[in-house]
Amino acid sequence: MTSSNPSYLIIGAGVFGVSTAYHLIQKYPSASITLVDRDAYDAESRVAASWDWNKVVRADYDDKIYCKLALEAQDIFKSDPLWQPYFHQTGVYWTCRSDYAQNVINHHKELGRNDDIIALPVSEARKLYGGLFDNADYTGVKEVLINRASGWAAAGDALRAVTKKCLELGVKYVTAEVATLEFNGRGSCTGAKTKSGQVLSATHVIVAAGAFTPTLLEWSAASSGNAGLRAGERILAAGITTGMAQLKKDQYEKFKDMPVGFQGYTPEEGKPFIGSIPPTKDGELKWWGSKIFTNTREVLPGRYISSPPPTHDYNQWKVPGPLKQDIIESRNLWYGPASADWEMTKHRICWDAFTTSSDFIISPHSASKGLYVATCGSFHGFKFFPVLGKYITQMLEGELESELVEKWAWDRQRPDSSENVEYPNSEMKHLLQPASKL
Ligand SMILES: Cc1cc2nc3c(=O)[nH]c(=O)nc-3n(C[C@H](O)[C@H](O)[C@H](O)COP(=O)(O)OP(=O)(O)OC[C@H]3O[C@@H](n4cnc5c(N)ncnc54)[C@H](O)[C@@H]3O)c2cc1C
Repeated sequence: MTSSNPSYLIIGAGVFGVSTAYHLIQKYPSASITLVDRDAYDAESRVAASWDWNKVVRADYDDKIYCKLALEAQDIFKSDPLWQPYFHQTGVYWTCRSDYAQNVINHHKELGRNDDIIALPVSEARKLYGGLFDNADYTGVKEVLINRASGWAAAGDALRAVTKKCLELGVKYVTAEVATLEFNGRGSCTGAKTKSGQVLSATHVIVAAGAFTPTLLEWSAASSGNAGLRAGERILAAGITTGMAQLKKDQYEKFKDMPVGFQGYTPEEGKPFIGSIPPTKDGELKWWGSKIFTNTREVLPGRYISSPPPTHDYNQWKVPGPLKQDIIESRNLWYGPASADWEMTKHRICWDAFTTSSDFIISPHSASKGLYVATCGSFHGFKFFPVLGKYITQMLEGELESELVEKWAWDRQRPDSSENVEYPNSEMKHLLQPASKL
């Protein structure tokens, strides 16, 4: 295989991997492009963070680069027939305890957008939407950001539809768990070996394995003897709990047109932002907890890193009591005492890959030729699904603009995590100890 005849092996079929396959197959219709994932793309249940009932699709970023990128992605969600059926433009209601709202509004203006986006005093905002958020926690809130252009997407359905489209266009999909990356005698990456021993080869190997990325790189470092493959401090795998309540018919009527809600906190308050997404058509209302936790375990003799539990489904449906309690406390931050009797139908622990700055890593891997990394959604990656692959393709071809090359580099200076409210704040086993306070 020569570089004039490139082939692509993408490990992980979440939004980073599938978007890459989608953009590559459109640019190179006859290229060999393979997605490999431990779960079938249409499986009943998947471990991918991207596979979910719903995800927020918003451009309310105080980081101008992500604001611009999210607007680009949202425009596709709103207009392209492949994505449009999954997008719901319900708006966003965001309690801000910092200058977040003004920063977002300024970015939109500077980017020439006239979206219906305003910041209101609490007293005015809580009257909106029939007073739906009147019982929310407004302690320390400076103002409420209302952006009627934002909304949410039926995430799992969109992921399945775009993957199916990729397959129709000629992308191959292999359902298998990758055990290690493969290298030639010169240390260049040539493919991957699955747990059952199947070798998949390509000139370009793109690791898009989400929360499992650091573990896969550890295993590959051990099998190849190339310690430089390890993620080290760059990537941290972490989980967060989501919960769903089944609304009764009258409750559903009340909540069905609600916007996405965000409780925005600052580092001093020690909480991440906590969101709640409008009910699905089956009347299930979802929100997430405030604990973002690591799971440090021995992935190889003597090698301890954070990694999802070592079962096929990451134990994602086995949610211990203290994490269910976290969900109750977050519910109360939104819906107050009136929600005490809501029937909880589902709890899930969802795993993602984080960087200290919440920037993605979309970069060649510096320790091996032919190896690339595209992941680290850091709890906000889904909304970029339509455009991620465009930028990953640019990275593969050395055409990414310099600002993005630096932001998403494998090797770069990384800030301390203390200013990042989204960064993992606890260790799972400590949260599960009886004495732990949530
Ligand atoms: C609870 C929760 C809520 C979120 N809410 C939002 C939101 O509202 N809006 C938003 O924009 N973002 C949100 N995010 C973030 C977003 O979901 C993620 O950043 C994004 O989906 C990550 O995509 P990914 O492709 O990197 O990883 P994933 O979607 O996790 O995909 C990785 C894939 O790799 C596969 N894989 C892993 N290891 C192997 C292996 N060894 N062999 C084969 N396959 C393997 C997995 O099966 C998986 O399919 C949320 C995340 C969580 C956890």
